Amino acid sequence: MSRVRVRFAPSPTGPLHIGGVRTALYNYLFARKNGGDMILRIEDTDQNRFVADAEEYIKDSLKWCGIEFDEGVDGKGKFGPYKQSERKAMYELYAKQLIESGWAYYAFDSSGDLEKLRLQAEAENQVFTYNAQTRKNLSNSLTLSPDETQSLLKSSEYVIRFRIPEDEEVVFSDAIRGQVKVHTSTLDDKVLFKSDGMPTYHLANIVDDHLMEISHVIRGEEWLPSAPLHVLLYRAFGWEAPVFAHLPIILKPVGKGKLSKRDGDKMGFPVFPMNWLDQQSGEIYSGYRESGYFPDAFINMLALLGWNPGTEQEIFSMEELIGAFTLERVGKSGAKFDPDKTRWFNQQYLRTKTNEELLEGFVPVLKQHSVVDYDKARTMEIIEMVKERCVFVKDFWEQGYFFFEAPKSYEPQVVKKRWKENTGDQLLQLADILQTSPEWKETILHDLAAKFIEENQLGFGAVANALRLALVGDSKGPDLFKIVELIGKDETLKRIKTAAEMLG
Ligand code: GLU
Repeated sequence: MSRVRVRFAPSPTGPLHIGGVRTALYNYLFARKNGGDMILRIEDTDQNRFVADAEEYIKDSLKWCGIEFDEGVDGKGKFGPYKQSERKAMYELYAKQLIESGWAYYAFDSSGDLEKLRLQAEAENQVFTYNAQTRKNLSNSLTLSPDETQSLLKSSEYVIRFRIPEDEEVVFSDAIRGQVKVHTSTLDDKVLFKSDGMPTYHLANIVDDHLMEISHVIRGEEWLPSAPLHVLLYRAFGWEAPVFAHLPIILKPVGKGKLSKRDGDKMGFPVFPMNWLDQQSGEIYSGYRESGYFPDAFINMLALLGWNPGTEQEIFSMEELIGAFTLERVGKSGAKFDPDKTRWFNQQYLRTKTNEELLEGFVPVLKQHSVVDYDKARTMEIIEMVKERCVFVKDFWEQGYFFFEAPKSYEPQVVKKRWKENTGDQLLQLADILQTSPEWKETILHDLAAKFIEENQLGFGAVANALRLALVGDSKGPDLFKIVELIGKDETLKRIKTAAEMLG
């Protein structure tokens, strides 16, 4: 087999949906697994749909995910340029080559003429297509004389269309779907070259895949209907076609159909790898990065969305994915996106990170809450205590804010249940006892408190719950005397006093 060379070929028409990231990922895994090359090609020939910043967004997102390219970015690779708008001069020559060999033709029909035909067909409940039948009655170089054609080429606008063979079964094999058969009567004569001097996606894509020596085209299922045309284009040029592999679509978590950006908004999960500001509407679409996901957790989740490793294993590092990935284990049917499972992956990854790594992620969160003066070792100890209950690093704050600041209020439900008339006095007495502790350590403090409670015949639970309320402002948090130890003597006494004053 020739060298494995795959490409990710996005069009910069907006932010990359997670389906696009998965396509890039599968290409990357396949390339690495097979010791091949991974190429990034920007398909920007459709100028009407061009969106500024989309290319940067795509590159930044893939970088965040750890998906690397051997060619196509930062001037790497000998097949460049890798941006189609910078290659545009050449495509027309290829289109003309197909005209000469009879595989393509000039079409002069104005957009007005075509629109009329479309409306006419619609009125008869039909769809107009420019195809092997209709082209016989339209204005093109197949129906016009060579002289008429030459004169129109000079005087009028034209496009170049592919001439689909009239009555034929196109058969090709897809690495995921097996044999695919499509009859040419269902295909239309697609435009290859537009009147604005730009190639269409179909022409540029095939020419570039050939020139860049792409061996496998791994892309989303939405391109499957275009594949027969692409197969015919390879034949028309006399080139060997690459292996095709069309990935299953990603489905909505509930209901039917493809996962869309609206689903994310509605159900509260990101559909994009990073935040994206839509310049036109001013809307911000949230991203995995900003929502607090680890890139490796996100990638692990995406890898399993359509690919089945064939074992029970669910947690895979990028290296493990590369080792295990094969196209044979990619499914045909749609893969349902599961937001809960996605959070689960993040939680699993959070548990495997060192406290030092987690601290690094937590520092910006602390800063957001105006905590700049923190002790590293103490904060790592806090992280160790709360991380079992967290999905995201930002949850550390929710689970442990009281280690960094006194409660700003007391949860009314808890106050009602836990704070009685004499609770304040009891806690102040307890504070006096704790103060005498020879060492501010969890076990010693616990024993001192237990002794005080027993001597005064108070219930341990009642006192402990009230103390927790005074220190935390709520009924949550890890072991109470660990909290007491970690917030320190002065702060503990201060919080007890404040609670006694505020709650009576
Ligand atoms: N430019 C196409 C896209 O936006 C590429 C499709 C393909 O991989 O052939 O997805």
